[in-house]
Order: sequence, then structure tokens, then C-alpha cells
Amino acid sequence: MNLLNFKNNIYKKILCLIPLSLLYFPPSYAELKIEFEDSDSMVKTIFNEAYNTMGKRVGAKKVNWSWCEGPSSYDPLRHFICINNNLKNQDLALAFTTAHEYAHHIQKTIYGYLDREKMNILKIELQADCFAGVILASIPNFYITPDDANKLLEIVYENYGDDDYDGWDHHGSGHNRHLSLRSGLTFGSSKGARKDNYYKVFCAGDLFK
Ligand SMILES: [Zn+2]
Repeated sequence: MNLLNFKNNIYKKILCLIPLSLLYFPPSYAELKIEFEDSDSMVKTIFNEAYNTMGKRVGAKKVNWSWCEGPSSYDPLRHFICINNNLKNQDLALAFTTAHEYAHHIQKTIYGYLDREKMNILKIELQADCFAGVILASIPNFYITPDDANKLLEIVYENYGDDDYDGWDHHGSGHNRHLSLRSGLTFGSSKGARKDNYYKVFCAGDLFK
């Protein structure tokens, strides 16, 4: 290849790159990564950012939290969240659980109570899954690529559902929880522009019996 051809080739490549760059659309989910030193800092970051993106809007109080032996839970009377020890170092499942428990805090702030007598527990849980998706997809610079989002949806589908359909603590089938989380991720990652078919059912549905 002589020098002239070489230069021409380079120019062709540069010219090619310009229109391609104009066609580039940002991905649905933020790609910048926050390095978490450990699971503690991940949980703290998610609580802080959940407050900044969703909690502040509804006037949520500060929550306290700790790791615990039992299942992860939210105590509406003490505004206290416990996160199951076994989730340490399981980044995606930990991120989802942290956001889900914080979502209960948002619900408590909005409705003033979380009452099993007056409210439908299944709807409460599925709305918390949807809110968790909104929270995770809205955190600036949080590393949740489309691949990670798909992995997380798979984890929820496989591990988070229960089939105790008539039970008092039924949280939803894996399929329902997957759909609900996906609704929230779609809504959050599009900054509220995209509501999929399930958004009304899961995120904005009526929680009362
Ligand atoms: Zn829950």
C-alpha cells in the first residue's frame, strides 16, 4: 500500500465513523460503574440513592439497617431494614433485596401504614418489586447494564417466587415478580418515559382490598 492509499483509507474510516457516531443511542441502563469496596458500601449507596431518587419526593424519613440471620425485612414501626447475611457478595440479589426493602419504606411513607387487614399483601409485594426496579435503574452511575438487568430478572424469576398462592404471605410467583421488576427497570431507565403493559398493574395499582 502506498502512502497516499493508506491516507485515503484512514480518511474513509474516519468519514465512516462520523455518521455511525451520530446514530449512536445511549443504552437503556447506565453503563458507568461505581466500584463497591464491599457489600456494606453497596447497601449504603443504594439506600442513599434510593432516598435521592424516590424517597425525598415522598418525604421519607431516614432508615436504619443491619445484616441479620433471618429473612430480609422492613419494620414499618421502627423504619428499620434487615438484610439477610447470606446476600453478602451476591451483588445483583443484594442490590434487588436492598431496593425492595427500601420500597416498603416508600410505601409506608406514601400510605401512612402497611396493613395486612386493609391491604392486599401480594399487591404490596409486587409494587415493591416494581419500585425496586425504578430505584435501581434511576441511580446515577450505577452499573446495571442490559446484561446485568437480564441476569437480575432471571435470578428473581428462578429464586424469588413462591407458589403459596393462598398463603397469608404470598409474594407472587417468580413470573409475576420478574414482570413487575422489569416494569420498574423500564420505567426508571427511561426516566419515566416508558411504561410497559404491566406498569399500571404493578407499579401504579391499587393496594387496597
Ligand atoms: Zn417485601
